Amino acid sequence: MRTVTLPGGEAVPALGLGTWHMGERGADRAAEADALRCGIDLGMTLVDTAEMYASGGAEEVVADAVRGRRDQVFLVSKVLPFNASRNGTVEACEASLARMEVEVIDLYLLHWPGSYPLDETLAAFDELRRDGKIRHWGVSNFDTAEMQDLFGHAGGDFCATDQVLYNLDRRGVEFDLLPWCRARSMPVMAYSPLEQGRIAGNDALAEVARRHGSTEMQVALAWVLDREGVIAIPKAARLDHVRQNRAALDIRLTAEDRAALDAAFPPPSAKQPLEIL
Ligand code: NAP
Repeated sequence: MRTVTLPGGEAVPALGLGTWHMGERGADRAAEADALRCGIDLGMTLVDTAEMYASGGAEEVVADAVRGRRDQVFLVSKVLPFNASRNGTVEACEASLARMEVEVIDLYLLHWPGSYPLDETLAAFDELRRDGKIRHWGVSNFDTAEMQDLFGHAGGDFCATDQVLYNLDRRGVEFDLLPWCRARSMPVMAYSPLEQGRIAGNDALAEVARRHGSTEMQVALAWVLDREGVIAIPKAARLDHVRQNRAALDIRLTAEDRAALDAAFPPPSAKQPLEIL
């Protein structure tokens, strides 16, 4: 598995597994845990979840997937902004740990900017880290100005990542946020790398896919994986999708492919506000 290095020097998989919408229906939970286990078997050992997903149900699916193999997995979860007070963050983290049946979360994110003072959330992250309940912390859906503000707070520069919407069709972050993070050796986690399954249907994408004997989704994912310092976390509940996503890591895009995709999905020429799903 190709890896990306966190600011502290730890290497994590460049391709992980998303879990949004998992755990929503009891009847699907076993198949969803199977899909996660299949991905982990294939080396996609970074699992992204959140207390928000299915109101904790996705974290319970993660528990089923990682039981007996916790040490093989890098677990990411998130605190909701309206829980992110000094005590609320600690309580939310402890509830996530209980639902996932684990002792520690590897990377704990503030899901999006909220109204509690950041100093409170950062103090809670620090306490959780010192107590061994989380190993790293980071943020999600923070635009460049919000990252700059975060770094102005005491300890803010210990942030390990910013998880943001990033795919072929949503390239706004390339203008300023990605370079800002790269300058600080901070990887970005690309969520919805397949635009939630809607990225296909473009002629250029179809042509590149044809050249590689792959699907359009695989090329879209390969494009995200081709970016330096980016971790992609596609969600797939179907086993064939999990295997196709793993195979996308082996697609080597050529200069011709990149140019064709740039023409069809142009990079930003000016600042765009961060998009959120
Ligand atoms: P996504 O990964 O872009 O797309 C998921 C959809 O694509 C599912 O319907 C899935 O179908 C389908 N799919 C997966 N692999 C495929 C393939 N090879 N071919 C065809 N279809 C495929 O969207 P996402 O779930 O929004 O984003 C990924 C993860 O990022 C989430 O699950 C979550 O962990 C995280 N996320 C974070 C935030 C945030 O605010 N921080 C926001 C959104 C998402 P099946 O499931 O049926 O296989």
